[in-house]
Amino acid sequence: MTLPDGVVRRAFDGRERLVTSGEPVYGEPTDGQWRVWDVGRSKLGAMFELGMDVQLSGGESVLYLGAASGTTVSHVADFAGPTYAVEFAPRPVRDLVSVAADRSNLFPLLKDARRPETYAHVVESNLDVIVQDVATRGQATVAARNAIFLDDDGLLLAAIKARSEDVTADPEAVYDRVLEELAETYEVLETRSLAPYHDDHLGVVARKQ
Ligand code: SAM
Repeated sequence: MTLPDGVVRRAFDGRERLVTSGEPVYGEPTDGQWRVWDVGRSKLGAMFELGMDVQLSGGESVLYLGAASGTTVSHVADFAGPTYAVEFAPRPVRDLVSVAADRSNLFPLLKDARRPETYAHVVESNLDVIVQDVATRGQATVAARNAIFLDDDGLLLAAIKARSEDVTADPEAVYDRVLEELAETYEVLETRSLAPYHDDHLGVVARKQ
């Protein structure tokens, strides 16, 4: 897998780690400009680490759904272009606003990702990529509704959390249902379990169709 410009592998404490260049955010190890991307705390980072073909070259415009306090989206903003970060919980958005203070291309939005019409006036259209990590029921519906922001052949990079859909169901059965619904809006290109970094999560690379 080719890493996008701005994401590199560097030796840290004797092992190869993914790093990006930017201000540190969550106590991650740093070396000069470089900050380690802790893939145990980031589903997108795990997708990179596991070698999924995320099809990014760097500089893309991004809509990030489920930004929380900004752990992953801070790395995304380090290598991407304009990055709109949606999170509906007020407490983490306060942290996210601090993360954005150091990144002129990161725009935090205190919004519900199930209601894209509430931020359609702020987010630009024809975006290159949606990154989705929302811990909510209806993850396929969220991805479908937000496809309005994507360019015709825009990309979806999603981490599907089985337990957010149904805590008791077999994760594989949950993934099948989610992928079936996703296929109404996206062509699914690749899927992969995010274990051992994140249990009961499926990484998905898909293209809008
Ligand atoms: N992506 C983050 C990272 O890697 O740094 C972690 C995200 S956390 C697993 C999931 C987040 O989704 C939570 O912060 C939660 O508040 C948010 N979330 C859940 N439902 C949401 C919704 N409908 N709209 C916006 N955010 C939502």
